[in-house]
Amino acid sequence: MAYDPNNIFARMVRGEIPCIKVYEDADTLAFMDIMPQSPGHTLVIPKVAGESLFDSEPAAVLAAMRTTQRVARAVARAFEAPGTIVTQFNGPVAGQTVFHLHFHIIPAYVSGTLRPHARERVDGAVLESQAVRIRAALLAT
Ligand code: 5GP
Repeated sequence: MAYDPNNIFARMVRGEIPCIKVYEDADTLAFMDIMPQSPGHTLVIPKVAGESLFDSEPAAVLAAMRTTQRVARAVARAFEAPGTIVTQFNGPVAGQTVFHLHFHIIPAYVSGTLRPHARERVDGAVLESQAVRIRAALLAT
């Protein structure tokens, strides 16, 4: 499949559609997942085109991983999560639904209680209040 420059994450990078940002630098963007699997579920993307791990430039993967580590630490601290799951899906069969490389940071609170993947939307005001906690934890590092 060819990379679609109009996928929703590419449009967020260009500022064409909104997202609840928690972190941004020259190479990456981190924002709240609108269908979170647990409170604090955050996504990290490189800003450059790349559908998955397989076709992305190593520099883009590296930048995204660096941001994922930084934001994961902040998410875990902000939500006092005893565990954190980091996932990344390649291809529809693997569960990928948005075809721009991204890493999921999913706080784990109690074993076996994650909501299903990409299923149920959570109110923007709730996500914004969670983002406030993550931004504060990032500032504290
Ligand atoms: P994937 O299934 O490709 O690994 O993950 C895509 C993720 O993007 C899902 O967890 C889904 O909830 C999230 N998502 C889908 N559409 C939007 C959107 O418009 N805004 C945000 N913030 N997240 C989205």
